[in-house]
Amino acid sequence: MGEITGAGIGQGVAVGSVVRMADPLPEPVDRPSHLDPDREGERARASLSVVAAELARRGAKAGGAAKDVLEAQAMMAEDPSIIDDVTTRLATGRTAERAVFEAFAYYRDVLAGMGGYLGERAADLDDIAQRVIAHLLKLPEPGVPDPGHPFVLVARDLAPADTAMLDLDQVQALVTIDGGPTSHTAILAREKSIVAVVGAADAAGLADGDTVIVDAAHGLVVAAPTDQELAAARARIAERAARAAAPLRPGALADGTPVPLLANLGSADGAAEALRLGAEGVGLFRTEFLFLDAEVAPSVREQQVQYTRLLTAFAGRKVVVRVLDAGADKPLAFLNDAPEANPALGLRGIRALRRTEAILREQLTALAAADAATAAELEVMAPMIATVEEARYFTALAKELGVAVAGVMVETPSAALIADRVLAVCDFASIGTNDLTQYTMAADRLLGTVAALQDPWHPAVLRLIADVGAAGAALGKPVGICGEAAADPLLAVVLVGLGATSLSMSPSALADVRASLSRYRLSDAKELARAAMASEGAAEARAAAETAAAERLDAGGASS
Ligand code: PEP
Ligand code: MG
Repeated sequence: MGEITGAGIGQGVAVGSVVRMADPLPEPVDRPSHLDPDREGERARASLSVVAAELARRGAKAGGAAKDVLEAQAMMAEDPSIIDDVTTRLATGRTAERAVFEAFAYYRDVLAGMGGYLGERAADLDDIAQRVIAHLLKLPEPGVPDPGHPFVLVARDLAPADTAMLDLDQVQALVTIDGGPTSHTAILAREKSIVAVVGAADAAGLADGDTVIVDAAHGLVVAAPTDQELAAARARIAERAARAAAPLRPGALADGTPVPLLANLGSADGAAEALRLGAEGVGLFRTEFLFLDAEVAPSVREQQVQYTRLLTAFAGRKVVVRVLDAGADKPLAFLNDAPEANPALGLRGIRALRRTEAILREQLTALAAADAATAAELEVMAPMIATVEEARYFTALAKELGVAVAGVMVETPSAALIADRVLAVCDFASIGTNDLTQYTMAADRLLGTVAALQDPWHPAVLRLIADVGAAGAALGKPVGICGEAAADPLLAVVLVGLGATSLSMSPSALADVRASLSRYRLSDAKELARAAMASEGAAEARAAAETAAAERLDAGGASS
């Protein structure tokens, strides 16, 4: 069956033999039950609470982002509305198994219909229902197989509970048939540095015992690989292991040009791991991730506690915090109250905050207070800036409330095209390549059907980045990159060639990017950037940069 494509998570490569995860339990039969609804209710509630306790236990054991995901799942398992729904269905003569199945399926469809971030949580409800039904039927808990040897796990879509508990000594790689790059499986795989390819539909044809190469860097699963392919994959695995073991140096090009390598974080829990992997600071702290479940705006005090934790962990280092980027796929109940036909083009980021300025003021106040109490170098930035006037508004407000360094994210083509004027009224820019690509290519970043267009290698995106880089250089203001593009080792070199002065990424990508930068001088990076920008499309740009890179390395111009 050759090459199977999907969305690669990270840069890893693995070789191993496939073990399939069992398919879900069959649907409980839909026939009238003569069982006592009260007794069935007791059975259902008991199983729901056993499953909730087990999910919470796994969360506590896993820690990090997994803990939040599993605790959220545990809460869903005991959600009063779902329990009420189960009880109502029991009263109509359903068995406990059937009532649980139907109630969770109902809420699953509601979430899936919402799309975006919430839509991707629908699989979490399926997972809980399966666990509860297995408990009711006294069947083994569904989950990851344990063949007793290392393996490549192939699953339809792994549940967060399973991803969080993967035994990394046994699971060499993960391949899912469903799921997208922003699903919980992908988020957790990235955090745990698991080699993963998600949404690989044709992986459904793989069988237990098949040898495969999982190549996350290229979003590929190679079935029945040749000896040559296996040897090349093993060489890449060895190279990567050597890079991971290399001493942690600050990010720099071969000629010594410093390129600080920073971490993208969504909670202070990830700070220790980021530092261990050599993060020189934080380039993007996504504050909205702290409050996704909050019904009301968090208090200044509550926020101050969170920000103080983060800044304390990074004492003496730069920490760039983004104010709440609510809206689109990350709605916050207290900021986004009206449904929109095109939420990515609606009241998102600075637009939503400005409409509710009291919340923005409170956040900036909490940040300034945390800064005053700690020794990190705090910088604060606003998301989704599209006009100079928005940049001026945000900078003035941040400074009024005691923030010393205030900047903007460049995520819209508009901000990039007039970056000279935007940068003139703030202290720095950080380019969010995920959104900049989405808006430049007019391709929803969450839609699998247009995923091919969501490629930051596209020369149109690169040209906008070059404009921002040039504006920063002319004004002497820093231009960082904090989108996923910075985590691609070769694109990272191109971005520096386009004028980026720092790169921020998932901590698991730091070692690969550090190693890649160290092979090229600034003149090489500029040449790679020129070659990529002069190309026709994204694939051609990557190929042109690869060719230019190989020429530079062959010529001995760059160090290896
Ligand atoms: C981006 O858009 O590139 C970015 C870093 O912000 P987010 O992914 O949180 O939208
Ligand atoms: Mg963004």
